[in-house]
Amino acid sequence: MVISVASGKGGTGKTTIAANLAWAASTLEPVTFLDCDVEEPDSHFYLKPDWLGEEDVFARVPLVDLSCCDGCGKCAEFCRYNALAVIKGDVLVFEELCHSCGGCALACPLGCITYADRRIGIVRDGTRGGIHFYQGLLDIGEPLAVPVLKRVKERHTKDGLTITDCPPGTGCPMIESIKGSDYCILVTEPSPFGRHDLDLAHRVALELGIPHGVLINRSSLSDAVIDDYCEEEGLEILGRIPFSRNLAEACSQGELRTETDKTWSWRFLKILEEVKKLCLLSSPS
Ligand code: SF4
Ligand code: SF4
Repeated sequence: MVISVASGKGGTGKTTIAANLAWAASTLEPVTFLDCDVEEPDSHFYLKPDWLGEEDVFARVPLVDLSCCDGCGKCAEFCRYNALAVIKGDVLVFEELCHSCGGCALACPLGCITYADRRIGIVRDGTRGGIHFYQGLLDIGEPLAVPVLKRVKERHTKDGLTITDCPPGTGCPMIESIKGSDYCILVTEPSPFGRHDLDLAHRVALELGIPHGVLINRSSLSDAVIDDYCEEEGLEILGRIPFSRNLAEACSQGELRTETDKTWSWRFLKILEEVKKLCLLSSPS
């Protein structure tokens, strides 16, 4: 089973929730943790894996043989990402913009374009307890997160539970991260901004046909702004993590509450149990 943890909005505590869920679950079954927040991964601060290794991730970018090029411009016309420009017969390649689609080589009538690998990030792996941990890290200045997080997702195994920590927002990286999940937990906070961004994330999950529910972090005496929205949209509220200064301090020190406090472990296991029940109910019979 693959459970993704996403949030339309940054700063909701998504990663601490994903890490605590993983730790609590690992007391019962093997867990694979995929940190797909490759622009700013931080789940290792909480899960503290023993690192085993890392491998480079490459993107394929065009190499133009100018000795055969006649400057016709067909490659640049084809590239919808503006990664190529032909100026006075010279072909300029803007590698950071290239999405490695391979189309320009097909568009070139003279066969002047081949491809070369260019490093854009790494995937590293480690373990801790019953958790196999994989994390993508985009190189500084690289704009394309998706190829790196796709490599992280390839580490998914069918054994036990997989928890995916998704990037914040609702752009391509978040969409790619939640694709293929059996269930998506949308983490939010009880504020108008939380509601706004929850709405965006809810629409994405709906569009992709992924069953999803809401976890309210920093819950207060009045979560009405989220409660009302969930009622309007028929969204399940999976649980509430109360606002607490102690909890915030523990998080800021990279402490996993589920590791140090059985009450919290039990609380996260209840959330997991609820998610698994909803997953079964929504899976085609
Ligand atoms: S591979 Fe695709 S994205 Fe990259 S330069 Fe060629 S056409 Fe553009
Ligand atoms: S399509 Fe081929 S021949 Fe034409 S400008 Fe591009 S590389 Fe040169």
